[in-house]
Formats: sequence, C-alpha cells, structure tokens
Amino acid sequence: MICNRLFNSLVALETDSLETDLRGGRGGLLSGFTEFVCSNRDAFFLENYDPPESVPTCRRESRFRLLEIGFAIDANRRIFLTQFMNELRVENLYVAIGDQQIVRGLSLAVPRGEVHAIMGPNGSGKSTLAKVMAGHPDYHVTKGKITMDGEDLLALEPDDRARKGLFLAFQYPSEVPGVTIANFLRAALQSRLPEGEELEATDYYAKLYEKMELLGMDRSFTSRAVNEGFSGGEKKRTEILQLAMLEPNYAVLDETDSGLDIDALKTVAHGVNSLRGSKIGILLITHYQRILNYIVPDHVHVMVQGRIVRSGGKELALELEERGYDWARAGADEPVLTR
Ligand code: ADP
Ligand code: MG
Repeated sequence: MICNRLFNSLVALETDSLETDLRGGRGGLLSGFTEFVCSNRDAFFLENYDPPESVPTCRRESRFRLLEIGFAIDANRRIFLTQFMNELRVENLYVAIGDQQIVRGLSLAVPRGEVHAIMGPNGSGKSTLAKVMAGHPDYHVTKGKITMDGEDLLALEPDDRARKGLFLAFQYPSEVPGVTIANFLRAALQSRLPEGEELEATDYYAKLYEKMELLGMDRSFTSRAVNEGFSGGEKKRTEILQLAMLEPNYAVLDETDSGLDIDALKTVAHGVNSLRGSKIGILLITHYQRILNYIVPDHVHVMVQGRIVRSGGKELALELEERGYDWARAGADEPVLTR
C-alpha cells in the first residue's frame, strides 16, 4: 500500500478490541469513519473516509493500556491505521553465526515504561540477541523479526537504529582511543539534531556533569578517551552515562553488572533506576540475580539454548537463583511465548 501521509495519534482503549472502540469513536477521533473493510490484530482498513487536514490528538487515561495508532492515507484516499504498542518486539527470532543456530525461536516484547530482565546461563545466546539488535554484521537473522514501535528494526542501518531511539550497552564495551568522553557524547547527541541545529555547549556540559555526578564519576573523566585504560567498573559507568545522556526509547543492557563490586553495582543501579519511567523500555540481560535486587524488573524471562523457556514476575529471578539453571533447562523443549 502506498501511503502519502502519516500521522501519529494516541488513543486509549478500554477493551482489547480496537474495532469496538474505533466504532464508538472514542474522543471524537474517528467519527468520520463509516466502514471497516477488514481488521486484524495489527491493521485496520477503513473506507469512505474524508481525511481531515490534520488528525487531532486525543489522549485519554485508560484502566488498561495506551496504544499508539499510526494513520496513513493511501493514494485512493483510503485511511489505513496501524496499531502498534510502543514496544520493542522480537517475534520468533532465529539467529545463526556461520552455520550454527544460536537463537532459536525467541519471542519477547518490552513496552516502554517496563523493565524486563533476561536471565540465562553462559552461552545461551543473550549477547547474540543484543548484537543482532545493534546490527552486528556477523550475526544473521534466518527467521523472525524485530520491531521497534512497529517499525522493522532489522531493515535499518545500525546508526539509524540508534537515532530512532535504541541504545545498547555491551558486555564488553569497546575502547575508542583518541576520542574523549565529552566529544564522543557531544557528537552522538549532535547527530540526532536536525540539520543546521547546534547543540548548546553550556546546556550540554551542565547535563553531562549532572549525569556524571549521579553516577559517581569524577569530572576529569570527560577528557579521557572512551574506555581507554578504564577498569571494568569505569567502563560500565561510562555505558550508563551514555544511556543517561542519550535518553533513548529503549535500552538493552548486556551484563551491566559483570565485574562490578557492590558499591559500583549500587551506583550503576541508581543511575538506571533514575532513568526509569513511562518513556523508556529497558531490557536488562544478566547471568546473576544480584543486580535484580537493585533494579527490580517488571518481568523476568529465562533464556536457555536460544529461546525463552520461562517468563514471570520478579519472583522468578529468586526462584531461579534457588533452583538453578538446570531447573529452567528442564523446560527448554517447550518454548514459552511471552506476550
Ligand atoms: P551468552 O551471552 O548468553 O553467554 P552468547 O550470545 O555470547 O551467549 O553466545 C552464544 C553462543 O554463540 C556460544 O556458544 C558462543 O560460543 C557462540 N558465539 C557467539 N558469538 C560468536 C561468534 N562471533 N562466532 C562464533 N560463535 C559465537
Ligand atoms: Mg553474554
């Protein structure tokens, strides 16, 4: 379908049935529609609609969930609505390195406003998932898809993924010799501004120092090359500093706890917790339960042999700690599909 205009609007749905709500014209948003041509969970087609100059934005509190609806009007002046949650969504993903299948049928959805943890033994494919999201060229998606707010993430170049609001903190952060933290972050923020717009230096440094203080980082770090000669803990703090400065829509944190002593862990957790809120979805990848005492997740998923084998609330992490990964492995043959 060729779309020539695209709007976004927010509507609140009080039932799971989008069709019912749209017919009711909640918020006066859709009263012009006359007929549903067809509908399914993801898309709605409507005919005989005279598109307004602009679609009004309506936002209503809902006891249930707030959905974002994308409006597009095609060449035949038919309106096309795509319903998408504000979420980072992985559907039935298969990833291979060479001819080895690492991720095997993984499904997961992280809405903004929630923190999800993926726990799993070493070698289960957790970092592979993170690297695929980042667009690492060695990892090949052989099946399935990843979407971010409804958009095909895998079709985007790595830098576009970042510009559109995805952030990844890697298990083993790279050193960037010769580029200071201050310049690196400034360039990253600048690259997201529209052409011709300049980042204001005073505002930038004020924000940088504020976030460094939050993370217990000395100001002298600003003039050090990114990760060069940093200890494990300093590297992890630098990753979280980037997260705090870039304010992404989704953050994937791969083993942000590894190599941290308890004080550093608390500081990093404090930094992440201060960023939590309705605007960001966080996927926390970890081998150990320990960090989840400080960053309490809304959902926990257990990943074994390339797929999610169990999902639950925060108590699942404790159960796992108690029973060990063998218990989780026992369920590995029956993948659990999360919502
Ligand atoms: P986790 O992060 O859960 O410990 P990884 O995603 O790092 O697991 O690795 C999953 C499996 O994929 C492991 O068996 C690992 O050896 C393999 N693997 C990961 N990256 C590569 C690579 N670049 N080349 C070959 N094998 C890889
Ligand atoms: Mg890993």
